Amino acid sequence: MKPAPFAYHRPSTVDEAASMLAATEGKILAGGQSLIPIMSMRLAAPAALVDLNHVTGLADIDVSDTAVRIGALTRHGDLERNVAAYDANPLLRRAVQHVAHATIRNRGTTVGSLVHADPAAEMPAVLRLLGGSVEVVSTARGRRSIDAEAFFVGPLESALEPDEVAVSACFPHPPAGSGSAWLEIARRHGDYGLVGVGALVVLDSDSSGERGGVPDQRGGHPGARRRHRRLQRRGVRRGGLGGRQDARGRGHRPRG
Ligand SMILES: Cc1cc2nc3c(=O)[nH]c(=O)nc-3n(C[C@H](O)[C@H](O)[C@H](O)COP(=O)(O)OP(=O)(O)OC[C@H]3O[C@@H](n4cnc5c(N)ncnc54)[C@H](O)[C@@H]3O)c2cc1C
Repeated sequence: MKPAPFAYHRPSTVDEAASMLAATEGKILAGGQSLIPIMSMRLAAPAALVDLNHVTGLADIDVSDTAVRIGALTRHGDLERNVAAYDANPLLRRAVQHVAHATIRNRGTTVGSLVHADPAAEMPAVLRLLGGSVEVVSTARGRRSIDAEAFFVGPLESALEPDEVAVSACFPHPPAGSGSAWLEIARRHGDYGLVGVGALVVLDSDSSGERGGVPDQRGGHPGARRRHRRLQRRGVRRGGLGGRQDARGRGHRPRG
């Protein structure tokens, strides 16, 4: 099938994109890897597309002391190959390399995936797990930052207003002394995972500097729930992770 007719707009600045979005009640086109198939199946028929791909300054990956910030035109593949981002936070690459196939990762954007808010997608789960945020811009309300906790509202539904353009996403670095892992079961590598899990474990250190307890465990489950949520447990004793008490979750209340 082919999409229903639509107007096409090609802004060159974020402000222009935001005002076109407000004026047309259209949709932003980023990598098009989710939007175009949905339009081709006539599951969506926006009157206009506002193509972000000619806006400059949105493809950067900025690794600071505290976070990896990626622009709205950073492709999944750019994030996967970025060495500084991997060194600062290996979980980003571990997760993003499970997103689809290389050709789709070379076009699809990570911020687009966050806005699309598919419960089976990897990067929304990572944003939620790390407690990140998305920065958005609109003509009417200016710039605002939305925490991951508030960002994912339901299946394929984010907190973005129809006139807002997402300009970047911020993934905070995990605390020092932490380890992370990403596991996924898919019928073939690159397919949407049937289920996946991301985990972050933070070790405490005692006054002698030796690593002791586990003050913070977090997990994220793409594909297992209707929206992305973070499970968190604090203050687990070392050696207690595989114990019966922990496996049953007694004494530790998982947080949404
Ligand atoms: C065969 C196939 C397999 C795939 N497998 C996976 C997978 O295993 N895991 C996974 O996570 N994803 C998968 N995807 C989806 C892929 O990751 C997409 O790239 C991603 O979901 C959307 O990114 P995009 O840049 O292509 O967004 P688009 O398709 O351009 O847009 C998606 C939606 O987000 C909105 N949007 C995008 N960017 C912005 C912005 N900056 N501001 C405001 N709104 C915006 C659009 O208006 C649209 O509603 C797959 C896609 C295909 C075609």
